[in-house]
Formats: sequence, structure tokens, C-alpha cells
Amino acid sequence: MSILITGGTVVTASGRHAADVLVEGETITALFAPGRAPDVPGARIVDATGKYVIPGGVDAHTHMELPFGGTFASDTFESGTRAAAFGGTTTIVDFAVQRSGENVHDGLAAWHAKAEGNCHIDYAFHMIIGGVDDESLKAMDTLVDAEGISSFKLFMAYPGVFYSDDGQILRAMQKARDNGSMIMMHAENGIAIDVLIGQALTRGETDPVHHGLTRPAELEAEATRRAISLAQVAGDTPLYIVHLSASQALEAVAQARDTGRNVFAETCPQYLYLTLEDQLGAPGFEGAKWVCSTPLRSRHEPHQRDLWRGLRSNDLAIVSTDHCPFCFKDQKELGLGDFSKIPNGIGGVEHRVDLLYQGVVDGKLSLERWVETIATTPARMFGLYPRKGVIAPGADADIVVYDPSGRTTISVHTHHMNMDHSAYEGFEIAGKVDTVISRGSVLLSGGEYHGRKGHGRYLRRGLSSYLV
Ligand SMILES: [Zn+2]
Repeated sequence: MSILITGGTVVTASGRHAADVLVEGETITALFAPGRAPDVPGARIVDATGKYVIPGGVDAHTHMELPFGGTFASDTFESGTRAAAFGGTTTIVDFAVQRSGENVHDGLAAWHAKAEGNCHIDYAFHMIIGGVDDESLKAMDTLVDAEGISSFKLFMAYPGVFYSDDGQILRAMQKARDNGSMIMMHAENGIAIDVLIGQALTRGETDPVHHGLTRPAELEAEATRRAISLAQVAGDTPLYIVHLSASQALEAVAQARDTGRNVFAETCPQYLYLTLEDQLGAPGFEGAKWVCSTPLRSRHEPHQRDLWRGLRSNDLAIVSTDHCPFCFKDQKELGLGDFSKIPNGIGGVEHRVDLLYQGVVDGKLSLERWVETIATTPARMFGLYPRKGVIAPGADADIVVYDPSGRTTISVHTHHMNMDHSAYEGFEIAGKVDTVISRGSVLLSGGEYHGRKGHGRYLRRGLSSYLV
């Protein structure tokens, strides 16, 4: 089938212009000056007058069905990718998991089994290496060469679960340097954090706010600096800091980038909009909804201002969600009376495109930078470009028509994620996802959903476009 998107303003990372977009089959085949497209018999016309035509969002950090703290993230690949589609995201990169003692290939196979045939949108995987040893290091080569997985996540936190010590991190970084892949880092000093958690619980400090207070910004910054140093020792291995939340960590990234290092970072909407006092510090156990790591930061410190600046200056390259939803009932409640037992994670895969568009409305980002941070850079960073992340002939027809005169109210009553609450309840966005197209299939149009599970395909990724 062919689709002609007419009358809209095409926005890419490099600029905006009025153009009509022709889709044939699964691919964008041409852009025309407005009204100059030839007659395409049988083409479906999508009227984008007064609207933006942008590449479908690429969320490079999700955790569907992640086992954590004795339970599982509450979105399956089916429910999570459907929610993503509603919110204008047409590709996710989820984290397959190898735990300490497990075989990497078994972990990957388990992730394929969860996702295959269930996704509404295209998906790819990073691999979490939870046990760095000779076998898993060898597996990294195979994943890059044969499985289309070119990024590996390590944890400086969660001792006994995902944690790698500095020696293990160095070895994995050396391996990545050799095979051209990227190391993604959860940068928090988990050993020191566990001491602070134990001391807080001994003092009887059990409420959710103490999750944030026992993970101070300095321990995010220290781990970030240490990861940057280890990557340098490993031969300037490309390093990507996930879910950066603290000004001090951003400063470390900015310094490294200023000296030409291969250091990149993402932040997430929760760190741009939510705070330790307003959400995590909500009375009673309510704050459990916002327990995630790294934690929400204090509104009395300049973190949010600095993160928005970092997005403008490219010290923060990408906004991902770290989508890892847990229901309040029975899941977050596992931590009643002990904040350290609250499953860590916030669900937001449906809201990233809207929440960052609000940054455009608020004058914090340009339209082009919005598109770049939610779609183009994630595609380039993780070896999906130019198939994803751009409106151009030859690219997959993953397209969002975004209505700047629409309005979106975020609520548990209207969202599509499998969560019994919303981290952004009541947020008003001055814009709205109008139409969503994934590889030439219209998933969302006129408020009607036409997507289906099984449409989404596994994407084999190449190496990052940012490396020379
Ligand atoms: Zn994560």
C-alpha cells in the first residue's frame, strides 16, 4: 500500500521544511515540494496540514518483563510496545539479561522468546552482562558479529545481582574496544550505597524518600568519573552513561567530551520533570511510585536546569525512558516498611515524545533538537541509522504526525501501559500524537488504534555511527 502525507512540516535533526512524504510498502520513497507529488493511484492520503511530520521515536532504554526484586516489570513486550506506539515511539531497544552464573546466549534466547511475535513495533536488544568472565567476554564478540547486538550494559550498582567490579569492567571495556561495540554503564557506587541503606534502615528510616537520600548525587558522579577513567585506560572505549540524573555526573561527562573522549550520556523524562521532594517524598508510602535508580534529585539543587542545558549542548545526547513499570498494588508494596525492597522503576514509554515536546513549548529545546534527542541520535548511537530516526528516501516508513495545537493529559485512566498508576498523573502537554506509522502500517489514526502484536520485527543493529 502507498501513503501520501500531505501539507505537513517535515522536521528532522537538521531542519524543517514543508514537504509531502510518499510511502510505498514499508519504505519512505520520496519527498516532494508541497502539492508536487504525482498521482499515486490507490494511495491513502494523510492530511498533515498544520502538523509536524517527524521520524518515529526510538526509545533506547526499556525493560519489558524484567525480573527485579522478586517480581517482574509489569509490561510485557505486547502491552509495552503497544503503549509505546500510542505515544509515537516506533522502535525500542530493550535490555536482554545475563545474570551472574548464567550463559549469555541463554539469556539472549530467553529475551527473544519473550519478544518474538508479541511486539507492535520494531525492537532491538542491548545485552546486560551481569557476570564478566572468559565465557561472557567471548560471547560479546559473537553477539556483535552474528546477533546484531553492539552494546553491552554493566552495573556499578546492585552487588550480588548485576554488579561488576572495576576489574571486570576494565576487561569488558577492553573487549568492546577490540570489537567496536559500546559499553553502557549504570554509574552509581553500589557498594557505598548499600552501606548507607543499611545505616538508614538501622535508624528506622524506612519510607520511600530514603531510597533517594541513600543514593546521593556524589556517588553517581564518583561512579561516572570512575567509568570514564576505566574507559580511558581500556583505550578510550566508547562509553554511554545511562539515566544520568545529577549535575555533578553531567559535569564529568562534559569534561570528558571537552577533551575529545568517546563519552556519551542519556537522561530520562523523570529527571527533567520530577523531584525527590515533590514525588519521591510524597507522604506515607505514596512515594514508592517514584522509586527508580538513579533516583529523582532534589529540587533545591540545579539538576533539572543543568539537564535541560546538557540536552541543548549535546553533553546529553539522548532522552530514553528507562521504562520499567511496576504496579503499586502487590509490586511496589513489596517495600512496605523497607524502602530497599521496593522494585526500582518508573513506567513512561508512552509519554517520552510528548514530555520532550513540552520542552519545545517551554522554550528549552528547539524542534530539531527534540527530534534529534528522541529519534535521530538514538538511531545513530545504536547502529539503526539511516533505517530509523530520519524522514528520508530509503528509510523505514516509521513516521509520526504530531499536532502542536492538540492537547494531551497524562493519566492512569487514559494511558495504555500495564500500570495501576501514572508517574505523571495530571500532566498537561501542549501537543498531541496524531498519526503513527510503523514500516508503512498505520498504527494510530484519528484516535483509533490499528496495530497488532507480531507486526514488530527484531532489528539487527550495526555499530554506532558516532565512532570513527
Ligand atoms: Zn534501566
